[in-house]
Amino acid sequence: MPGLDPIALAQALIRRRSVTPADDGALGVIEAALAPLGFRCQRLPFAAGGTDDVDNLYARWGDGAPHFCFAGHSDVVPVGDAKGWTTDPFGGELRDDQLWGRGAADMKGAIAAFCAAAERFIARRGRGLRGSISLLITGDEEGPSVNGTRRVVDWLEARGERVDFCIVGEPTNERELGDMAKIGRRGSMNVTLIVQGVQGHVAYPHLADNPVHTLVRMLAALTAATLDEGTEHFQPSSLQVVTIDVGNRATNVIPASAAARFNIRFNDRHSSRSLEAWIRRTLDEAGGRYALDVQVSGEAFLTPPGDASAIVAGAVEQVTGRRPTLSTTGGTSDARFITRVAPVIEFGLVGRTMHKVDERTRVSDIEDLARIYEAMLERFFARAHAGAGAVAGAAAG
Ligand SMILES: [Zn+2]
Repeated sequence: MPGLDPIALAQALIRRRSVTPADDGALGVIEAALAPLGFRCQRLPFAAGGTDDVDNLYARWGDGAPHFCFAGHSDVVPVGDAKGWTTDPFGGELRDDQLWGRGAADMKGAIAAFCAAAERFIARRGRGLRGSISLLITGDEEGPSVNGTRRVVDWLEARGERVDFCIVGEPTNERELGDMAKIGRRGSMNVTLIVQGVQGHVAYPHLADNPVHTLVRMLAALTAATLDEGTEHFQPSSLQVVTIDVGNRATNVIPASAAARFNIRFNDRHSSRSLEAWIRRTLDEAGGRYALDVQVSGEAFLTPPGDASAIVAGAVEQVTGRRPTLSTTGGTSDARFITRVAPVIEFGLVGRTMHKVDERTRVSDIEDLARIYEAMLERFFARAHAGAGAVAGAAAG
């Protein structure tokens, strides 16, 4: 087959050591593959005080509606113990019908597959194709995610760019290509709770106020609560205490303060604001002086099953013969930012080795994923050109 070989492109990407926030030329490799196909490529470097500068790439073919966007990240997590690897983590070796290296599954393989899909689809449809295909590739997904997709989405909104459908190429499949697509994600927030008491001698507790006792009472109240029973599409929300810190080495001193941290993974029955209000109510009822620090990693979102998920599930089934489970499990992803502007669904490679030593992916999975993405483009444009209107499945808080 002439044209763009997704395996060679994935190898070239793995050979760029783009450990967040480094790029090492990874975006340039993607740009060099897309520009000859007629994509207009724009770099979007963003910086913010105290954070690393990050480069991002927005590449668009065509203009106007309908607009299909592929979103992903070119950065990777560190290799960890390099000696634990069977192959060079940045070698992009082919061995035993697998492509080895950091980013093979998460998610340089998927970026390469989409580039090949776009090339084949455009070549087949040629000038008759109305609408746009774009790639939004960030160099900051595995890091703080401050100057990546969040900022690019702000930029798209400011320019009035309309996106009708977005696929995120995260490795969503647990075991086999076609297992699972993600139609939403739980939200996540990290809370630090510091309880203030009054220091004193353990033999004279009436002259002190023990913050450890107060903290234990507060945590008992928080962990005893059922946040919800789960929904049709989400697991129950969960609060997990991750540490309790007092740091008191003395046996005869009541400490002045005690701290704990907990994380809440929450579904779309809640928002970080409603949960913070609930936390404060619960702590006030338990009684005691406290300070809270709340860091929100992302709100929950759902693209309800509908046209968008039908495009994805249909394309997956056409190529693999499997109907993917529509799931909302796992951690947060950049889809949480995109849901503001378009219906978003995630589908990529098999995630079994992501973030591990010996990350790798089946060569045939990359080929099949290219066919799946091409089938998604086919279904999306056929549906839009049939005048079916906007792709349903809007953002939900
Ligand atoms: Zn990823």
